[in-house]
Amino acid sequence: MEDVTDEGDEPSYLLHDLVDVCPDPPESRSVCDTCRRPSTVCWCPYLPVKPLAVSTTICILQHPYEESRRLKTAPMLYHGLQPGKCHIFKGKHFQPDSIPKLQEMMSDPHTLLLFPGETAEDIKKVATEGIGSETEASSPVAYNVILLDGTWLQAKALFHQNKFLHKLRRAEIRARQPSQYVIRTQPTNGSLSTLETAAIAISVLESKPDIVEVLVRPLKALCNFQMQFGAVIHHSKEYLIENGLYTKALPKSKRRRQNILRIVHDCTRKANDCS
Ligand SMILES: [Zn+2]
Repeated sequence: MEDVTDEGDEPSYLLHDLVDVCPDPPESRSVCDTCRRPSTVCWCPYLPVKPLAVSTTICILQHPYEESRRLKTAPMLYHGLQPGKCHIFKGKHFQPDSIPKLQEMMSDPHTLLLFPGETAEDIKKVATEGIGSETEASSPVAYNVILLDGTWLQAKALFHQNKFLHKLRRAEIRARQPSQYVIRTQPTNGSLSTLETAAIAISVLESKPDIVEVLVRPLKALCNFQMQFGAVIHHSKEYLIENGLYTKALPKSKRRRQNILRIVHDCTRKANDCS
């Protein structure tokens, strides 16, 4: 197995970090049948009135630890899209031979693995392929998008341990935008939750910018609920490091980066003082 413990090259996009999110409020008398959350903090009313009909099919390969988390975003996507448009498979090792949907996607040339890396293309570029051609005008491409759900390290482990994923065309979201998942510390300023990642992918591939806001509403509601019960806004790990606010021990690469930033900051200050 390849080394998946290095966290020195975290990408600008994606998957969240494990941290201290606020627990559910104590007065949970009943639990919602759909989201399995206490009914006082159920996010179902914020789902689209009718599950959205999209042409993209999302497949989430979820690390088992992610499933055990109480605050997770994949179910929001599952319930926000029409049946059959979001598939969630849980585990560490996946065998496409024994998962028909995954097998089907593996043999479809329009399947993308949304996972950052040197070989990943900008999803915006993928979306523009074929535009203007006769085939495209008559039948838009219906993409399958595979996502790896877990912390960044768990997602990297899923990628390295499931070699069939390496055969897929890889794409990534390059536009950096702050996550709405403000009660969970993200590794970088541009890291996004699974829900946001999928919503942006669908909106780009189908040229439907409004779809992101609609799909992300339950996440905003969840954050608002949790903040009412005492959760606070978490800045990304990148923000904390750059501003000297990160208190935990840093890996070597991060320490080096922090030192460089400090030197640049000192030099800039001295230059300003002299002018
Ligand atoms: Zn609910």
